[in-house]
Amino acid sequence: MSTKSKAAVLTGKEKIEIKEFPLPKIGNNDGLLRVEACGVCGFDSEAYLFGGNGVHQLPCVIGHEIVGRVDNIGAEASERWSLKTGDRIVVEEYIPCGLCDACLTGNYQQCFDLRYGSMREDHPQTALWGGFSEYMYLHPRSIVHKVDPNVSAELLQLFIPISNGIHWVQEVGKSKVGDTVVIQGPGPMGLGAVIGAKEAGAGKIIVTGLQKDEHRLQIAKDFGADHIFTADTQDIVNEVSEVTNGKMADTVINAATAPQQFVTALDLAGRLGTVVHSGTDYNLSPEFISSKITWKLLTIKGVLGRPKETVGVALRLIESGKYALWKMITHSYSIEEAGKAVHKHAYGEDDCIHVAVVNNNK
Ligand SMILES: [Zn+2]
Ligand SMILES: [Zn+2]
Repeated sequence: MSTKSKAAVLTGKEKIEIKEFPLPKIGNNDGLLRVEACGVCGFDSEAYLFGGNGVHQLPCVIGHEIVGRVDNIGAEASERWSLKTGDRIVVEEYIPCGLCDACLTGNYQQCFDLRYGSMREDHPQTALWGGFSEYMYLHPRSIVHKVDPNVSAELLQLFIPISNGIHWVQEVGKSKVGDTVVIQGPGPMGLGAVIGAKEAGAGKIIVTGLQKDEHRLQIAKDFGADHIFTADTQDIVNEVSEVTNGKMADTVINAATAPQQFVTALDLAGRLGTVVHSGTDYNLSPEFISSKITWKLLTIKGVLGRPKETVGVALRLIESGKYALWKMITHSYSIEEAGKAVHKHAYGEDDCIHVAVVNNNK
């Protein structure tokens, strides 16, 4: 029986240290997870590059795309979650307080009371709130999903990009059978959106990226994209007009990082179209013309994660093996190498797409 856990702690700008923490005491209502794999998210990279981002409370054990096995569980938690020791689960990043206005209106993604992968290491309960760790604390208010033990943990940790993609295209973007969906940015979220569009029965799926995204755009095609265009070598608005007979997109998913892409999104959307925006940039492009929203009667919607039920849909899709999702996982690292993993992801080195941290420790 271990009494300690190794974990990767984000301590400052571009600084990740491996530390050891005592395991928390588990009571009736909570549990302990033996982490198997955890993905690096763009939000982690942002916190790494800037030494925090308003949500990550440094120093903190990071990682919030979490898959593992229940190592220890209290009787009440076991009954509430229908889980026993040894079960494999994924854990969402949210730990809703259940009391604030965001929680009470069903928007717990906006509740920042507690959150996996961003809590300070000196939190009185435990330091083990993150997935780049051998063990992680399971708070009573965790959102957990039991998953197939026969599917690899590395594949299952794609549940966030896949569920976000389904939610953003289908539930927020209202995409339906026969629609044209344009997805800007072929990163993990963009590729998740391709799957969301394919599953929605979209008539035409168009993905835009840059020339250097060739490998990602090829995967988008493998997942079902009909057309791929590169913004640095092609006039993507013209190209989309060409393949849609001037009608443009019913739904545009802006999963790109460049602020300019929001301006382009308004041109890619057709009359009465919906633009779903997931970016977190802070500079409004000077070319932004708001009257395009008015004249085309566009709907602009922000997104912040996904609801619990969509994670279930994504997990069943991952377990089905319908898509060659392993193509998205380009790099895997051990917990001791978590710093390398986040650095690679933050700088987009070696054509990386989804980077995973895997717990191989005995
Ligand atoms: Zn994330
Ligand atoms: Zn709350």
